[in-house]
Amino acid sequence: MAARFVDFLLIGGGLAAANCARWLREEGADGSILLVGREPDPPYNRPPLSKGYMQGRESRDEVLFRPDEWWEEQRIELAVRTSVMNVDLSERVATLSNKDEVRFDKALLATGANARRLRVDGCDLDGIHYLRVFANSKTIREDAAQAERVILIGGSYIGTEVAASLASSQGKACAIVMLEDVTLERQFGKEVGGFFQGVLEDHGVEIHGGQELERFEGSDAVRKVVTKGGLELEGDCVVIGAGVLPEVTLARSAGLELGEAGGVKCSSRLESSVPGIYAAGDVCEYDSPIHGRPMRIEHWDVAFNQGKTAALNLLGRETEHDVIPYFFSDLADWSSMEYVGPGSGEPVIRGSLEDGNFTAFYVDDDRVTAALTVGRSDDLEHATRFIKERSTPDRAALADEGTDLGSL
Ligand SMILES: Cc1cc2nc3c(=O)[nH]c(=O)nc-3n(C[C@H](O)[C@H](O)[C@H](O)COP(=O)(O)OP(=O)(O)OC[C@H]3O[C@@H](n4cnc5c(N)ncnc54)[C@H](O)[C@@H]3O)c2cc1C
Repeated sequence: MAARFVDFLLIGGGLAAANCARWLREEGADGSILLVGREPDPPYNRPPLSKGYMQGRESRDEVLFRPDEWWEEQRIELAVRTSVMNVDLSERVATLSNKDEVRFDKALLATGANARRLRVDGCDLDGIHYLRVFANSKTIREDAAQAERVILIGGSYIGTEVAASLASSQGKACAIVMLEDVTLERQFGKEVGGFFQGVLEDHGVEIHGGQELERFEGSDAVRKVVTKGGLELEGDCVVIGAGVLPEVTLARSAGLELGEAGGVKCSSRLESSVPGIYAAGDVCEYDSPIHGRPMRIEHWDVAFNQGKTAALNLLGRETEHDVIPYFFSDLADWSSMEYVGPGSGEPVIRGSLEDGNFTAFYVDDDRVTAALTVGRSDDLEHATRFIKERSTPDRAALADEGTDLGSL
């Protein structure tokens, strides 16, 4: 017999679950809300972990989703350091790690993602880090402070942002080792990725592209990174940023259908294969009405907005998630970018890469599918409209700064 009942069970203590809780209350939900998260901290924003918090510019309190007292004021019960171990979806009962059994009416699964681990020789040596939670960021900052040289494995967001943060805030020697030829190439292509690589190199970050990690060397702690191409780099602190994998352990054991990208398969209203059970954030693979296909996107803004859409649907509002995904990234205070997409195609550049003031519109089959901007936020509004309306603006006009984007 289940011990207690809640109207809304929100599983996962990240941004998606937190924002869902907030919007349930903002939209008038009166029933009981229980948010269960396995981390020791209440919900917080992860982006500062590789940026302001790692640089020592932002405090823990500034990074929290809401101050501690807010949860009680909102009558949202927060169970931290607690995992949902099992969910019986036919009985609608969850078993928690503290042995509580919770019967629920509706549930949100927002279990997020975990850092992808690289199992190579020497991977268990001290001084090798991943970055996902508060404690990781603090440990990396402290470990880097003692290190001669930090090596970042991976040339995507984590690798580039952490290199910029440690080089700018600690003056630390940093080197990036990556499979791609240029940083952020997979996301934005060689030309635009090359712009960010230039920013990093101008600030002293060493970059080694086209290198596959073979092993780490050291006796107790890491001392060297060796690649399959024969590159050997001395380094006594390593941060690996090799992508994330959706955390679907619970979803799988509960029998929820998974999608091709490995997330919880959801409708455009973020409802899973079981009616009344929704998913949001990094774990959610939803049928995007904007893109016309299933998508799983690991962005802060997506988790935030999906949390809201899920709340509306938990309240029976029948709302499709038709928000264009937005993303931002900072390389310390050297450069920052914003992106709407995701999309593919050839970049059409408006402005100047040399001056660090440009927008790249990604055009595929004449349609704008995505855009990245550095220093020209206003262009994003037009890009969002192009994507939403499936516009086919003339490439030359897109590139021509004399043409008003509003007229296209
Ligand atoms: C260092 C870093 C920097 C980032 N920077 C940016 C950025 O600049 N821009 C951007 O757009 N995005 C950024 N992101 C990505 C963004 O933070 C994520 O997309 C977002 O946090 C996803 O939120 P979520 O709630 O879906 O999942 P998560 O934040 O992963 O939260 C899920 C939570 O659920 C918990 N959980 C899992 N299983 C269970 C269970 N069974 N029971 C209880 N709890 C469970 C997990 O422990 C976790 O706390 C960054 C991420 C990191 C790590």
